[in-house]
Amino acid sequence: MAKIIRAQAAKKSRVPSVPAKSAKKPPRKPIAKKPAKAASPPAAKKSPKLKPLKLKPWTSAEVYEAFSRFRKASPEPKGELEHLNPYTLLVAVVLSAQATDAGVNRATRALFAVADTPEKMLDLGEDTVRDYIKTIGLYRNKAKNVIALSAKLIAEFGGEVPRTRAEIEMLPGAGRKTANVVLNMAFGEHTMAVDTHVFRVGNRTGMAPGNNVLEVELGLEKVIPSEFMLHAHHWLILHGRYICLARKPRCDVCVINDLCRWPEKTV
Ligand code: SF4
Repeated sequence: MAKIIRAQAAKKSRVPSVPAKSAKKPPRKPIAKKPAKAASPPAAKKSPKLKPLKLKPWTSAEVYEAFSRFRKASPEPKGELEHLNPYTLLVAVVLSAQATDAGVNRATRALFAVADTPEKMLDLGEDTVRDYIKTIGLYRNKAKNVIALSAKLIAEFGGEVPRTRAEIEMLPGAGRKTANVVLNMAFGEHTMAVDTHVFRVGNRTGMAPGNNVLEVELGLEKVIPSEFMLHAHHWLILHGRYICLARKPRCDVCVINDLCRWPEKTV
């Protein structure tokens, strides 16, 4: 019996080697496929994590209603980054990239107590700034940027934070989101800073779907009435941070759950 089984196994093991005549062809295929496999990972990284759904657009009346409810629930929403003036707000926003507001606040309380102007920050020097912010991710590069942007503010803007998006974007470590936050919070401009929370809410609700943060920013600016724009950024960011959570949105307590277009909402 054992011999029979061994004989059968031996037969099976020979099967793959049967197409000996075609043995010359197969090697060409793997060689041709290798470059494709090597190229695929970067392509996967570029694809957006959250693809816009094709949802029924909100009407003007619905958008007005949503922001009226946000306003009623929180008439004066506040950002959570602690700061003392436009300069410290700018520094705090630059430090907040890939970090939580709470983590930034823990570091900047002590830093801003000794350096609340570009001049004082330069006097501290990069090494000392680095020590103050070493609990924040990417702190080495951020310390460099804080010193460099402080020097640029003194050299080119008289030590003041400029009031245009283009000028703020020129500062080391500052991008479009930084500029929008500073323009909105420090100077009362009707800008819309889109972070991960606002991006999610804009897409998920269907209020301003977009493949990237700029598309969502422009979409929100287009649909939100001017009378809400001063606080719209904070309403949306706080809504995303505390209600419309990424993994388990709290649809049961959401004030716009009847307006939201998300097919997976739980109400
Ligand atoms: S209903 Fe749910 S998914 Fe829609 S906005 Fe509210 S919390 Fe987010």
